[in-house]
Amino acid sequence: MAKYIVLLGPPGAGKGTQAKIIAEKHGLVHVSSGDLFRENLKGQTELGRKAQGFMNRGELVPDDITIDMVRDRLKREDCVKGALLDGFPRTPAQADALEEMLKDFNGKVDIVPYIAVPSEVLIERLGGRWTCRLNGHVFHEKFNPPKKAGICDYDGSELYQREDDKPATVANRIKVYFEQTAPLIEYYRSRGLLAEVDGTLPIEKVTEKLMAAIEKAQ
Ligand code: AMP
Repeated sequence: MAKYIVLLGPPGAGKGTQAKIIAEKHGLVHVSSGDLFRENLKGQTELGRKAQGFMNRGELVPDDITIDMVRDRLKREDCVKGALLDGFPRTPAQADALEEMLKDFNGKVDIVPYIAVPSEVLIERLGGRWTCRLNGHVFHEKFNPPKKAGICDYDGSELYQREDDKPATVANRIKVYFEQTAPLIEYYRSRGLLAEVDGTLPIEKVTEKLMAAIEKAQ
């Protein structure tokens, strides 16, 4: 049976960083809805054009567009054994849709590690965040700096500041998270799937705790 892990947490909790480490070390396929949207923006697809305004304002892209995009991704051959989902679901309607679509893929959500970080810390983290153009690796000028300023440690590509990591948008993304995504904490807790991890610990510690939670669920 295929395995699906949903990484939950506010923007800036470290979901992308952790998902990349865990996926690379353990051969899981990393599916990030934000990365999928950004690829579509870069490629100027119709989906990208539809999503752009919402993303730049720090709002959620409508559920129907997002759900269709993720379903198409999970249908692909490389996901037959499952996936590590990062940034999806972000609303209860998306979580319901995920449950339905996974039935078609012979799976279910197996575990939902929740990376908890208080909002003061999030604002500080998102402010200094730099992302690599090629593969979306994430760095922080203070907390996780690249070896060479402006260059990705992993693939040598240029680092840039995401449009939605600029101050005006950061505050809105955090507000949107608390209003629309935080209800998923209870949603998954009530189903016995939530595993809370302290996201203020050092990156390697958070990875260790996430891995322990994932292994326990297998
Ligand atoms: P992220 O990289 O996960 O922070 O996502 C960047 C932006 O993409 C978000 O602020 C949203 O505008 C959009 N986005 C990503 N995932 C979703 C989702 N599951 N539902 C709606 N919008 C999303």
